[in-house]
Amino acid sequence: MKMSNLFVQTLREFPSDAEVISHKMLARAGYIKKLTSGVYTYLPLMWRVLKKIENIVRQEMDKAGAQELLMPFVQPKELWVESGRWEAYGKELMRLKDRHSREMCLGPTHEEIITAIARDILKSYKQLPTNLYQIQSKFRDEVRPRFGLLRGREFIMKDAYSFATSQEDLDKEYQNMWNAYTSIFKRCGLETKAVQSDSGAIGGNVSHEFMVITDTDAGENDVFYCDECDYAANSNHAISNLPPAKVIGDWEKAIVVDTPNVHSIEELSEFLNIEPSLIVKALVYIIDKKPVIALIRGDKQIEETKLLNTVGGIEIRIATSEEIAEIMGENGFNAIPGFIGPCNVNKKYLEKYGENKITFVADETVKEMKNFVIGINETDKHLVGGNWGIDVDLPETVTDLRLVEAGDFCPKCGKELKVTRGIEVGNIFQLCTKYSKPMNAVYLDADGKAKPYIMGCYGIGISRTAAAAVEAHHDEWGIKWPLAIAPYHVNIVPVSIQDELQMSTAQKIYNELLEAGVEAVLDDRNERPGVKFKDSDLIGFPFRITVGKTITDGQVEFVTRATNEKISMKPEEAVKKVIDAVKTL
Ligand code: ATP
Ligand code: MG
Repeated sequence: MKMSNLFVQTLREFPSDAEVISHKMLARAGYIKKLTSGVYTYLPLMWRVLKKIENIVRQEMDKAGAQELLMPFVQPKELWVESGRWEAYGKELMRLKDRHSREMCLGPTHEEIITAIARDILKSYKQLPTNLYQIQSKFRDEVRPRFGLLRGREFIMKDAYSFATSQEDLDKEYQNMWNAYTSIFKRCGLETKAVQSDSGAIGGNVSHEFMVITDTDAGENDVFYCDECDYAANSNHAISNLPPAKVIGDWEKAIVVDTPNVHSIEELSEFLNIEPSLIVKALVYIIDKKPVIALIRGDKQIEETKLLNTVGGIEIRIATSEEIAEIMGENGFNAIPGFIGPCNVNKKYLEKYGENKITFVADETVKEMKNFVIGINETDKHLVGGNWGIDVDLPETVTDLRLVEAGDFCPKCGKELKVTRGIEVGNIFQLCTKYSKPMNAVYLDADGKAKPYIMGCYGIGISRTAAAAVEAHHDEWGIKWPLAIAPYHVNIVPVSIQDELQMSTAQKIYNELLEAGVEAVLDDRNERPGVKFKDSDLIGFPFRITVGKTITDGQVEFVTRATNEKISMKPEEAVKKVIDAVKTL
């Protein structure tokens, strides 16, 4: 490809709406063009990168025994009603109507469609196990589309679905996909960590996310991990053992004390001169419009996904002061934030207010607390020296709702946990019968009995993987593509196109490389060398061969973008170096 023909426009500045490196660089280097919020055109350079990632994914999936198909992008409501997700999926599901007012949605994922296909075709145990996959654009109406390709609304995904007759076969396929994912990301030049995760809207029991570890803002997930053993988990799923803390207060009996204008745990602990771990913190959440009060030890935080999973629902958020006033008022209390608790909860109120009644849940940390401090739904007052069962009822639901923190102890080996940030590039799930049961997707077993498939599903964000590669490989000058997914392998830059020897040497190198199957660009533009080098670094060609004045001594300059190392060598050596590197792919 001649640079003068390449459909690319590099920009002088980063786009103003770009917050993270990959978005800034991909936009500035002419890879992507925004159409509307979270929706991008993949320009030719980007499309080459994406096709390379897709091909690596295809090769590894095929090698693992999966078969590729392509399902429709638009899906009918009926199948989503069957699975129960038409209600459960939330606003990310982009719903639309056709001319006959039939309701449809844009595919955010394809469990329903593939399960419906399987139940029509995979009728006998003899056809199982099997694994089917596709590579396709998905649409999710994300609440906060941002970070360019990392969190788009339209994005490219590889999604695979496996069907088996036993948990044992599902376990095998899960491991098989795990291995394939490990190879895929390695081949893409990405180091990943597999971490336990929450299963979210997809559902199921066991799931792991493949994370690209990054210390940049682009890592939207906190990953807790242990250096001593292999424990690693997303914060939405991580558990830990806690270092000892004071959980028994010094009061002998419960009394109500005045705590004027004390609204936070910090203020309360300062006012009473006690440790926060002696306070039962009560937080008011709204889960799908219903009020939920969650209790946790004062020095710990609630993990919202855990709370959502415990209570059940789609959307969770902390209540506003106005809502708290309204909810508490309607439920017979007049407390304002800071003074809320499960005390004085009159059963009469809980039953009376039906829809608006409050659900109480507690984190395990509160269970062992004794002689504690707690809100009693009276403004400017707290109970001190309270005990469960005597002064206050412990909610019926007591479970793990706690956000793990660095320094907590590993649940597996007891050593200190560390935290880092990660970009989720892939996710594998054991769905079991989550879809096959409600959708009545069954096969006939050897004994003639109809049984639901034991399913798994396996996703990779193709476009997110490309962006994650930029997050992992760049410097201040631009992208440093891993060779396997670079749009082109090498850029050949004659310093002056007016110089006949420079131009003819560059052309010769270019021809030889093309002939050897190398993807080469020849920068034949009549531009200053500085401009050409800048573009070359920004676009991120893994290799650059510069043909300048030293060609009169038979030397060219060979630049490796990964290290920015520059070496003088003969043109034929440079050609060989590139061919050898490409051969290793
Ligand atoms: P996230 O938690 O980041 O929203 P998810 O867990 O909902 O993602 P999955 O349903 O597991 O996503 O989808 C499989 C893969 O698709 C993810 O691992 C990720 O790589 C990719 N992906 C999901 N949502 C997006 C998005 N909005 N933009 C780009 N890629 C995405
Ligand atoms: Mg996921």
